[in-house]
Amino acid sequence: MNSFRLLLLGAPGSGKGTITKKLKNVVPNLQSIASGDLLRQEIQAKTNLGQIASEYIAQGKLIPDDLIISLVANHIGVLSQGTTSTTIMKPWLLDGFPRTLHQATALNGILTPRDQNLTKVIELDVPESAILGRIETRYVHVPSGRIYNSSYNPPKVSGFDDVTGEPLVKRSDDNEETIIKRLKDYYTMVKPLKQFYKDKGILITVHGETSDIIFPQVLQALEER
Ligand code: ATP
Ligand code: MG
Repeated sequence: MNSFRLLLLGAPGSGKGTITKKLKNVVPNLQSIASGDLLRQEIQAKTNLGQIASEYIAQGKLIPDDLIISLVANHIGVLSQGTTSTTIMKPWLLDGFPRTLHQATALNGILTPRDQNLTKVIELDVPESAILGRIETRYVHVPSGRIYNSSYNPPKVSGFDDVTGEPLVKRSDDNEETIIKRLKDYYTMVKPLKQFYKDKGILITVHGETSDIIFPQVLQALEER
């Protein structure tokens, strides 16, 4: 299981960030890239890209493909450094990228020449009712991407990150109006993406209402060949 290169697919609020955190507890050398976290860091750092991104994000719209592809590509370059030896492979996962077919083919074009293609795509299938119930009470620590929920997974000190003590924020796009748009767009965009990875024989779907129910299935999916 230790050398996987994983894509987590799942609707907004399906628990990709939480599953990432749980995986890191059992796979200590796991590296992760969450496109939404990268964008929120750009926004917090007030970069040009951050300024452009914030307008799209606040409206629940996707960032144009070329912008997100170049942003993630920079970070993927760092991930696969030093992993050319097939015996020492660092496991890594992507969350939130790719999420269009164009992004998926672009990613393939980056990874194939490095012989670093995805080994697995796990789709988290969570009922929409569960997602809607928890999105408004979600908080994030922007520098790390750590997720909390004031109702079922609160930080030790209300409003502050457990690890750094820095303030948590509520995402501008975590409101009912925006989440409904994000969910609708997600279900449209994910269909061709799923087909793309199904054709490669690497797509596995897991189901459940909570991350506690989903996580053991993710572990099992990673064990399967
Ligand atoms: P979750 O709420 O579980 O984090 P999400 O998909 O709604 O899932 P993020 O992945 O954090 O949220 O992304 C937030 C926003 O950032 C998206 O709504 C979109 O505007 C932008 N974004 C993130 N990743 C991409 C991407 N791959 N392509 C285009 N836009 C993206
Ligand atoms: Mg997320």
